Amino acid sequence: MLIMRGMRHRRLSRKVSAITESATLAIDAQAKALKAAGESVIGFGAGEPDFPTPSHVVAAAEKACADPRNHHYTPAGGLPELRAAVAAKTRRDSGFEIDGANVLISNGGKQALFNAFFSLLDPGDEVLLPAPYWVTYPEVIRMSGGVAVELPTDETTGFQVTVEQLETSWSEKTKVLLFVSPSNPTGAVYPRAAVRAIGRWAAERGIWVVTDEIYEHLVYGDNHFSSLPVEVPELADRCLVVNGVAKTYAMTGWRVGWTIGPPEIISAAVSLQSHTTSNVSNVAQVAAHAALSGDLQATSEMRYAFDQRRRTMHKMLNDIEGVDCYEPQGAFYCFPSFKGLLGRTIAGRVINSSLELAEVILEESRVAIVPGEGFGAPGYGRLSYALGDEDLVEGVGRIADLLS
Ligand code: PLP
Repeated sequence: MLIMRGMRHRRLSRKVSAITESATLAIDAQAKALKAAGESVIGFGAGEPDFPTPSHVVAAAEKACADPRNHHYTPAGGLPELRAAVAAKTRRDSGFEIDGANVLISNGGKQALFNAFFSLLDPGDEVLLPAPYWVTYPEVIRMSGGVAVELPTDETTGFQVTVEQLETSWSEKTKVLLFVSPSNPTGAVYPRAAVRAIGRWAAERGIWVVTDEIYEHLVYGDNHFSSLPVEVPELADRCLVVNGVAKTYAMTGWRVGWTIGPPEIISAAVSLQSHTTSNVSNVAQVAAHAALSGDLQATSEMRYAFDQRRRTMHKMLNDIEGVDCYEPQGAFYCFPSFKGLLGRTIAGRVINSSLELAEVILEESRVAIVPGEGFGAPGYGRLSYALGDEDLVEGVGRIADLLS
């Protein structure tokens, strides 16, 4: 009888059943499992710098461990000194004038995004989402009750949406535009004029913008990072900025990110976080404080290395027949089109999608790439160049050997 009653309920909620596993973490897990089994696998899947966290940051964390103040709960919104440091860093780096009350410290940029969308969206609210997009965006939008409206882009516009496209996709239900530059996965960096035009359009339409600035310091060549609320100050009251220490300071494992926004939204989001995760680990917050209070020397060294690898990977990929790679302008990913290879037989198998191609590359060459399907861009694939030079050359070389 008890069992019968239990069976009336689904084991998993609809909300959770609807979540798709992160394509990037899935491929990374597969590659790690093969590695653990003794295989020589080269992983282009992970989106994280291969450098260690700067030593002064680690030293600050070691000291923080011994301080009893850090052994207990602290304010859910973050250590006041870290909120102030984020405000100071933001003024320094992007010129956005804010203070600690505009900042909520979270467990990485991921939780910052979750807090942002959960605080803004009601069921059925639409979010304009330029594609290719980072895998987490559509999931977070859906979990928050929103509906993602995809705006496809390709290499012909440098993977950038235009105001005309936004205007055609907009509806009375649109509440938010998701904007990211530099972009994961494409490496697109919007020029200042485009940032302004998009920001002005959103301001005129009365749309909120969630802008993800996590790759702000990783731009190459003549490209410059421009911050939306700085370029379009009239948008500042309807803009949430997401950022974190992960990519800038090689601190992905420390899990510190933040949301910047108008104080009333931030304080509502603090209440939300107070009932989900409370404060971020104090030791990690102290480490983030040390990172933000220091200079950007380590970042500029990483950027130099990434830039060299970017050029190498871009060239090697374009040298493969059937592969067409846009030159990334920022972040640390190449996002080549493999459309020229679809329909071909590779290792005895007809390849009809980038998903099948990624499978065959992992099986035959022991190289992990992330198929474009997860980014809303079938026919493409993402390769991170945040890995050592030798592995990079060896890995792309193996792909070239398989495909030629
Ligand atoms: N935003 C973008 C575009 C990212 O690529 C990532 C990580 O891959 C994040 C946000 C979140 O970073 P984290 O949660 O590690 O701080």
